[in-house]
Amino acid sequence: MGAGLAGPLLAQGLVRAGFEVALYEREAAIDERSQGYRIHLDPEGVDALRDCLPPDLYDEVVATSGIPGSGVTILSPRLEVVQRIAAPVDGDEGPQHLSVDRVTLRRILLTGIKTGHATFDHYELLADGTVRVHFAGGGSAEADLLVGADGTHSRVRAQLLPDAEVVETGQFLIFGKTPLTPEARSLTPAASLDGFSVVAGADGRFMPLAGHRPRTGEPGYLMWVVGSRQPASAVDGSALRDTAARLVGDWHPDLAALVGLAHPATVHATTVRTAKPVPPWTTGPVTLIGDAVHTMVPAGIGAAVALRDAALLCAQVTSPASDLLDAVHAYEASMLEYGFAAVARSLRAGG
Ligand SMILES: Cc1cc2nc3c(=O)[nH]c(=O)nc-3n(C[C@H](O)[C@H](O)[C@H](O)COP(=O)(O)OP(=O)(O)OC[C@H]3O[C@@H](n4cnc5c(N)ncnc54)[C@H](O)[C@@H]3O)c2cc1C
Repeated sequence: MGAGLAGPLLAQGLVRAGFEVALYEREAAIDERSQGYRIHLDPEGVDALRDCLPPDLYDEVVATSGIPGSGVTILSPRLEVVQRIAAPVDGDEGPQHLSVDRVTLRRILLTGIKTGHATFDHYELLADGTVRVHFAGGGSAEADLLVGADGTHSRVRAQLLPDAEVVETGQFLIFGKTPLTPEARSLTPAASLDGFSVVAGADGRFMPLAGHRPRTGEPGYLMWVVGSRQPASAVDGSALRDTAARLVGDWHPDLAALVGLAHPATVHATTVRTAKPVPPWTTGPVTLIGDAVHTMVPAGIGAAVALRDAALLCAQVTSPASDLLDAVHAYEASMLEYGFAAVARSLRAGG
């Protein structure tokens, strides 16, 4: 349930292994505005893609990814370099980290996977150990296993684990994309074109900046995020863009200028949430992957962990020796450990 990133990757792996899969998604079309940002994938995410995707689709992910940067840079509000951490260099075995456009990645992950347009409402456990899913507005489907891959506000989690908590951190993000035109390039700090950078204020404000320059040679864009403790009341893209520019208005003028060059249709706001650790539950024919179980503050790791879940669940379920529930149990035991370790890491890095 849910065709974000983890759901489609799991579907790819299961279909490849000869399983029958039905993938459902509530959105009829991808929302460029809320989902169209650049994401960095850690080695665990890259490995998961390599494990589940047919080789031609994996090659397409790499071919459409961004030119790797040389490191992570912390900048002051005046754009002086405060700290620089060099990125690991890729070896002969292929890339370890990837910078990808989320819309492009999702399009590749959905290649050849039939997706039903339906919104999950609730499920029902059947006497024979299988599960029936009911959709909002009517309709149902039955399966041996229901996988909730329905993101931070997961309705599958709400029914499976009603006590699981997802809490607000009090941070607010406005994010957008500025096309890398010659003008934007001239305003962008060099470190932000060559990897990931974050401008760190002393008052809780911060501004990640990351250039996405596709290997395909297209000009690409600068992804920027303005984080603060001030809720954004605007919903319209232009008004949000103005709010973001105002929030960094007392910093180096190039920053507000870069925000001003973003296309309003790419500007979006979100609150920052984090999942509280979940104790193990009794395994049944319903499980969770990705943000549906361990949503975390944006720190460059959430998607990679979601993809790792998909690959691990796929490997367990398709293992010829496994009974289905034993396989799901082995996945859950491992996922709860590394998933919530990642949540804790994200809070240290970005919370
Ligand atoms: C600004 C920003 C920057 C980020 N940058 C990074 C980064 O650099 N690196 C990184 O690793 N992570 C990053 N993340 C986090 C990453 O995007 C998420 O962790 C990742 O998308 C989780 O994938 P998922 O498949 O679990 O959930 P999602 O991608 O949220 O997908 C869930 C899907 O389920 C669908 N759905 C929801 N409810 C229902 C329902 N009832 N019925 C049917 N379908 C439903 C939704 O429409 C959606 O398509 C970032 C997040 C943000 C906000």
